Amino acid sequence: MTDREKIIQVFYDYEDGGLVSLDLNKILNCLDETLIGIGIGEQGFVTSKEDVRQVFTTGLKNNTDTKHSLSFEQIHVLIHEEGFANLCAKVIVRAEKENNVSISQFLQSLTLVRRGKDWKICALHASSPIVTEESVEAYPLKFAEKTLQSLKEKIGEEAYLAEEQYRQAVLADTVAFYIINFSKDVFEKCQLNGDLCAFVEPQTPYEQFICDKLPQYVASEDRAHFLETLSLASIKAAFEAEKKELSCEYRFLCPDSSVLWMVTTVRLITDVVTGDKKGIMYVKDIDAGKRRELEMIEKADRDVMTGVLNKAAFIRSVTDSLLLSTGTPAFVMLDIDNFKSINDTKGHPAGDLVLMAIAGILKDIFAADGIVGRLGGDEFAVFLPGTHTQDALTARLEQVLGQVKSIKQCNKAPSNVTCSIGVTFCDDKRSIEEIYKNADDALYRAKQNGKNQITFF
Ligand code: GH3
Ligand code: MG
Repeated sequence: MTDREKIIQVFYDYEDGGLVSLDLNKILNCLDETLIGIGIGEQGFVTSKEDVRQVFTTGLKNNTDTKHSLSFEQIHVLIHEEGFANLCAKVIVRAEKENNVSISQFLQSLTLVRRGKDWKICALHASSPIVTEESVEAYPLKFAEKTLQSLKEKIGEEAYLAEEQYRQAVLADTVAFYIINFSKDVFEKCQLNGDLCAFVEPQTPYEQFICDKLPQYVASEDRAHFLETLSLASIKAAFEAEKKELSCEYRFLCPDSSVLWMVTTVRLITDVVTGDKKGIMYVKDIDAGKRRELEMIEKADRDVMTGVLNKAAFIRSVTDSLLLSTGTPAFVMLDIDNFKSINDTKGHPAGDLVLMAIAGILKDIFAADGIVGRLGGDEFAVFLPGTHTQDALTARLEQVLGQVKSIKQCNKAPSNVTCSIGVTFCDDKRSIEEIYKNADDALYRAKQNGKNQITFF
C-alpha cells in the first residue's frame, strides 16, 4: 500500500466508525495518542481520546433501524516530508429508513502524522454539515439536529439555505459573494475572495451602489447590459415573473486596469420568516472559458486561408453595421483579373499566395475603419461605415491597385496581378441585398470596360 492509500484508508475507517458501523474502537484506532484536536460541530472541540469516547457514547442516537452508507468526493491528499499529511474530502452521508432515503454532505479536512509504517489522525475539522429537516436522519450523531435547530432559530430557514448557497459559491472560483435584501434595497452581507471586487458594508443601499460603482468595475460596452439585468427594477420584475436566477456576463475592469470576463449571478429567494425578497449574488471569474468561447466563434467567422471574414460573417457584420450607421457608408467589391490563368500558369499554390497577399493589402488599408471579407473564390469585399466621398475613396482604392500589382511571389519580380473594383455608396433606405447587387453591377462594368479599374455604381 502506498502512503496515499494508507492515509485514505485511515480516513475511510474513521468515517465508517463514526457514521456507519458506529464502532468506537475503530475510531480510536485511527487517532494518534497526541491528539491536537477534533472539531465536533455544535459540541465543540476535543483534544483527547477520552473526550472522543465520551462524545461518542453520549452523542449517539438510538435509531438502529436507519441504515447509513457513505461516499466520498474530491479526496485530496498532500504528504509533507516531515512525516505529516493533509487530506481534504467531501463526505456524502446516505441514510435509509423504511425506504426513505435522505442525503447530506459536509467537508472534512484532516491532519495525519506518520507513526512507523502507519498514519494516525492528529487533527480533524469538518464544515458544519448541510442539514435540512429531511436530511437530519443522515446523521447518527446528535449534532445534526442541534445544528438544524439553532440555525433555524438564529437566522430563519431562507438565510440558512443561503448558507448552503454560500458554501457552494465559496467552493468554486468565486471572487465575491453578497447577500442583498431587495425589499429594503440594502446589502446584508459581503464576503470577498481576493481584492478584485468592492467590499460593501452591510446596510449600504444596493441600487445606489450599483450605479456608483458601475463605471469603475464594468467595461463601458457592457454597462447598459449590466444595468438592464441587475438594476433593482429588473430584479423586482424577475421576482414578479417568478424567476429563480438572473445572470450577466461582462468585462470586468480590474484595479491593475486589466480586463477579465466575469459573470454575476443572483439567486432570488423569499425569506419565509420576514417575506423579504432577497438575493444571493456571486461574482465568478469566467475569463479563460469565455475567451476560448469567443475565439471559437471568431474562428468560425474567418476564412481559413486569408484570415478575413467569410461571406456569412461579412454579410452579418455589414447588416449589423448598416443598422447603426448614419452618413454614406461605402461598399466595395474586388475581383482578381484572369485569376484562372494565374492558377493555370503558376499553379494553384501560387494562386493561393496571391489571395493571401490581397487579403493582407485590404486589411492594411481598410481594417482600421472598415470590415473586410472574402465572398468566395477570388472575390473580396470591404464595407466602410461613416461618410465617404468618391475622391477620397478612389485614392485609397488606387493604393490597393498599386499594391496588388507589386505583389511578389517567392521574391521574384512583381507578378503584375491586376484586379477590378466596383463601388456603391449606401444609404439607410437600401437593403444589404440591393447594396450587394449594385456593387456587383459596378464590378461587372469594370470587367467589361477592360478590367484593372475602379467603377462607381
Ligand atoms: P475574371 O477576370 O473575369 O475575374 O476572370 P477570372 O479568371 O478571375 O475568373 P473568375 O473570377 O470567375 O475565377 C475565379 C477562379 O478562382 C476560379 C477558381 O479556379 C479560382 N479559385 C477559387 N478559389 C480558389 C482558391 O482558394 N485558391 C486558388 N488558387 N484558386 C481559387
Ligand atoms: Mg476573377
